[in-house]
Amino acid sequence: MEKGRAFIISGPSGVGKSTVLNALLAGRDDLYFSISATTRAPREGEVDGVHYHFIDTDDFRAMIQEDKFLEYAEYVGNFYGTPKKYVDEAMESGKDVILDIEVQGALQVHSKRPDTVRIFIAPPSWAELERRLTSRGTDTPEKVQQRLIRAKVEFQTAHTYDYFVINDTVENAVREINAIMLAEHCKPSVRMAILSE
Ligand code: 5GP
Repeated sequence: MEKGRAFIISGPSGVGKSTVLNALLAGRDDLYFSISATTRAPREGEVDGVHYHFIDTDDFRAMIQEDKFLEYAEYVGNFYGTPKKYVDEAMESGKDVILDIEVQGALQVHSKRPDTVRIFIAPPSWAELERRLTSRGTDTPEKVQQRLIRAKVEFQTAHTYDYFVINDTVENAVREINAIMLAEHCKPSVRMAILSE
């Protein structure tokens, strides 16, 4: 059986990653979305264990000590981390795994697991990103500015990713990500290994 692959999706806060990923994951039981742990407070509508595992800083530090994270990073005043166990279990069972993580975490995962595919999602423009962040209404104007500054820093690493997708419409972004995933499964290094079993 072909083992699952891990696909990292990074992109600035507010770029619409969650909407794109929800559309990508809808009705696909061959895909596993890695649920991160975070010390950030839940936004309205976010459910513990579905969008994130919402934990406090002490518990987060304990998980670091116990080496339970594949990667973790600090982002605009909060910690975020990928629990290792579920990612490994899903890949062993043949499922592809989607990691929605920022650029520092992406670097950590890629250095530990170089076969991870990295996709950067960008907004159609900075003005549109600011509009999306503001209209979400979940952050103070100060936090919106911090997220915009962070977005521009992250953008400088985009050229190190394997793929670059512009989220102009959700349909286009999903179509391109599906195409990338399909192409990655057709790489000789993956396909020829199955043949020789
Ligand atoms: P948000 O607060 O908007 O949900 O997420 C902020 C940023 O943290 C996003 O760029 C998101 O991709 C990233 N993020 C979410 N979970 C993780 C994680 O487990 N590890 C890392 N490194 N970043 C994460």
